[in-house]
Amino acid sequence: GKVLLTGGSGFIASHVLDCLLDHGFEVVVTARSREKGERIVKSIDSALGKRISYVVVENIAKDGAFDKVVQADPPFDYVVHTASPYQLYFDDPVRDCLDPAIKGTTGILKSLKTHAPNVKRVVITSSSAAILNAHDHREVYDESSWADTTWEQAMEPMHTYRASKKFSEKAAWDFVETAKPHFDIATINNTYTFGPIPRSLSSLNTLNTSNQRIYDIVRGKMREEIAPTSPVFTFVDVRDVALAHVRALLVPEAGGKRFYVVGGFFSNPKLAGIIREGWPEMMKSRLPKEEDIKDDFPSDHWKFDNSRSRTVLGIEYRGLEGSVKDTVESILKATGGG
Ligand code: NDP
Repeated sequence: GKVLLTGGSGFIASHVLDCLLDHGFEVVVTARSREKGERIVKSIDSALGKRISYVVVENIAKDGAFDKVVQADPPFDYVVHTASPYQLYFDDPVRDCLDPAIKGTTGILKSLKTHAPNVKRVVITSSSAAILNAHDHREVYDESSWADTTWEQAMEPMHTYRASKKFSEKAAWDFVETAKPHFDIATINNTYTFGPIPRSLSSLNTLNTSNQRIYDIVRGKMREEIAPTSPVFTFVDVRDVALAHVRALLVPEAGGKRFYVVGGFFSNPKLAGIIREGWPEMMKSRLPKEEDIKDDFPSDHWKFDNSRSRTVLGIEYRGLEGSVKDTVESILKATGGG
């Protein structure tokens, strides 16, 4: 089969790409420039080179941005849409985040409906942000929950990203209901994601947001004090997230479903403990003394139910320790060891 993968330069996309190639797919990734596209293709073992190529889509928020690229010969069977802005701060919430998130999602669905009659399924990277409330927590979260985030909150920088995920996912389900396309969709609602950084990363300055705190611990930024973990205390390994995307393409019953993809709990002090244990010499001067670190994991934290992802997609979640250690190793490799 042939897959279009958007946002190919991203952290999660880099693992979805590996997983798609492992499953024998031919993959076309979208990238915002030729330079990024070339770098992605070069990062892949040349033996697989024939099955990976790229197309340039500069801005997913533009009307018809995907019209041309969804028309391929041979045609696409599946699409994985991961491209969406993920930063903690945006100068202009609408232009820089909400528009690309929402119009990017509805835009690709519209283009596919009009120009890609062979596509059977579209898997969209949503987020746990579309499931979880910021404050009034449920006791247990699962796919039946929709975050209570409002459009007014979306204008507040703290909530913009969260809101972009809720409103873009909602727009996707609305599109399917009203436009009745020939394909179905599934969403992956993964939580805060750790794991090995992409081989195609040009510099650690562009490290994705969720791995940032592990990098900060490794380079001694928390040497004086461990930053508060809040507000997110759940994690998942990126390789489980990638497999969930690919299984969601392949498993017939996955169509029309959301999947809450979450592996377990973490806190910054727990990350620090794992990194100290793995690299005691290096971390000696880069962390506060062990006895000065207090775990900030809240005793009354809400619970999660990830059973749908385990039963329908067959995901067996990796633990925190292995995920963090593999992330650190990939960072050390990229920085040349220090
Ligand atoms: P990255 O920042 O590494 O990837 C984001 C990708 O989207 C990049 O390829 C980026 O391109 C592309 N992109 C962003 N804005 C635009 C735009 N306006 N036009 C075209 N492309 C754009 O982050 P992640 O890999 O972590 O995120 C990927 C997806 O996963 C996102 O949808 C995110 O919301 C979701 N997600 C991530 C979680 C996490 O903890 N990491 C948790 C839950 C969901 P470029 O490289 O050129 O900037």
